[in-house]
Amino acid sequence: MKVTKAELFTVAVKPEQYPNTPLPEIALAGRSNVGKSSFINKMINRKSLARTSQRPGKTQTLNFYAINEQLHFVDVPGYGFAKVSKKEREAWGKMIETYIQQREQLRAVVQLIDVRHKPTEDDKLMYEWLKHFDIPVIVIATKCDKIPKGKWQKHLKVISEELSKHEEDPLLLFSSESGHGKEQAWKTIMHYATR
Ligand code: GDP
Repeated sequence: MKVTKAELFTVAVKPEQYPNTPLPEIALAGRSNVGKSSFINKMINRKSLARTSQRPGKTQTLNFYAINEQLHFVDVPGYGFAKVSKKEREAWGKMIETYIQQREQLRAVVQLIDVRHKPTEDDKLMYEWLKHFDIPVIVIATKCDKIPKGKWQKHLKVISEELSKHEEDPLLLFSSESGHGKEQAWKTIMHYATR
């Protein structure tokens, strides 16, 4: 996919603030520091359009990026910060729950998992929860440049087993360092966005 235009379209917390467009949406979720902003920036050929790691204490928003006026990436704030207060965690939960349950434009969630590590409890809960709502999940194993190629398949197997990944959900390798997996990621995302 050739990205010719990408911009931050809007930020939202509540449904009234979601953009009023019929464009298909692909949401992106992952543990903080998993490489989500790097993934978005690499996919849209920008150095720093997506901000890295929204720290707790900052307003947590859903960020809608318009791509080629064809689809939206919806950046969901990262989960798994140890130091988040109960109140902040609840606000985050409510925001994402409302979006996932109500948004008709949502076609799939890209869930990012660090290829080096076993999925965390938060990763597993997120995946289970998305499946509970019948949301297609594209699992992207990030930072694959950090482990030797010979170990990729073994790590993918662990991720797949730990998540109890449904067979129909794709699992792809990605590196925002090397660009590995970018074409395949776009192909898969566009498959879900346009079906
Ligand atoms: P976010 O918190 O999920 O948005 O994560 P970031 O995109 O900010 O990435 C967290 C850290 O991991 C940063 O230091 C990135 O440079 C690094 N990083 C992200 N993706 C990759 C990757 O594919 N390969 C390598 N080697 N480092 C990465």
